Amino acid sequence: MLIDTHAHLNFKAFENNLIDVAKRCENYPMSVINVGAQFETSRKAVEITKYKNFYASLGLHPIHVFDEDFILEDYQKLISKKVVAIGETGLDYFHSPKSEENNKAITQSVVAKQVEIFEAHIKLAKNNNLPLILHGRNSNDDFTLQTVYFDMCKILDSHNYYNGVFHCFSGSQMEAKTIIDNGMYIGFTGIITYPNAENLRDIVKYVSIDRILIETDSPYLAPQKYRGESNEPIYVLEVAKEIAKIKDLSLEEVIEATYENAKKLFNLNTKS
Ligand SMILES: [Zn+2]
Repeated sequence: MLIDTHAHLNFKAFENNLIDVAKRCENYPMSVINVGAQFETSRKAVEITKYKNFYASLGLHPIHVFDEDFILEDYQKLISKKVVAIGETGLDYFHSPKSEENNKAITQSVVAKQVEIFEAHIKLAKNNNLPLILHGRNSNDDFTLQTVYFDMCKILDSHNYYNGVFHCFSGSQMEAKTIIDNGMYIGFTGIITYPNAENLRDIVKYVSIDRILIETDSPYLAPQKYRGESNEPIYVLEVAKEIAKIKDLSLEEVIEATYENAKKLFNLNTKS
C-alpha cells in the first residue's frame, strides 16, 4: 500500500478542503501519518484518525518551543491506538523562534531550550515504546551550526534510543550513514524531484531501499510536477516515482518496500 509517512492535514491550510483531500486518500487507497507541530495540531492529528488508514504523531516542533509549553502529561493523554509516533521533534538551526523574530541569531539559549524539549519527547516516546519523527535543519550561513544531524544523534545516543526517522532529510552522505548505521530511517520528500536537488538524489542512490520512507510534508514542498500548488498526500507518488528512477526499481517495488519499512517502524499491523 502507498503511504505518506509525513503530512499535515491537521494544519489550518486544510481547514476548508480536509474532507475532499481525506476522501482522495481513502479512495486511492493509501495510508497517511499526520504529524503534530504544537499541542493543538497534535490533538487535531488524533481527531482525523477517524479517516481510514490515517495515523497520528504527537509533538511540539523545535521552531515552536518558545510559543507554548510542552506538557508531557497532556500529550500522554492524547495517546491512542492510532498514535504511531512522537514528533516532530529535534533541532532547527535555521528558523529563529517566532518570539525572537528581531534577533535572527540562533543563540545558545535557543538551542538549549530545543534540546530540553527534544529530550522530553524522547522520554515520551520511550515510555510508550513509540518511534520518533525527527526534524533537523542546519543554518544556511553559520558553519558552526552545520552539524544538526550529528548533534541529534549524540542526544539519541545519550538516551540509548535510536528509534525513528529523520524526516525531510537534507544532509550529507556521512550524516545519512550515521543515521542508517544506527538502525534508523531516512524520509525523502518532493524535494528530490526538484531540478537543483542533484546532491540529494545522490543520497537517495546511496541509501538502501530498506531504510527509506516516503513523505510529502503537505501542505509544503509540492513535487516539481505540482510545484507552487498546495501539496497533498496522493502526490507522494511523485516521490516514489523519482526513487524508482534513481534506484532503477519499478514503482511497485518502491511502494511495496517503503510501506514495509513504515509498517515495521510504526508497528502498523498492530494499529489498524
Ligand atoms: Zn513537517
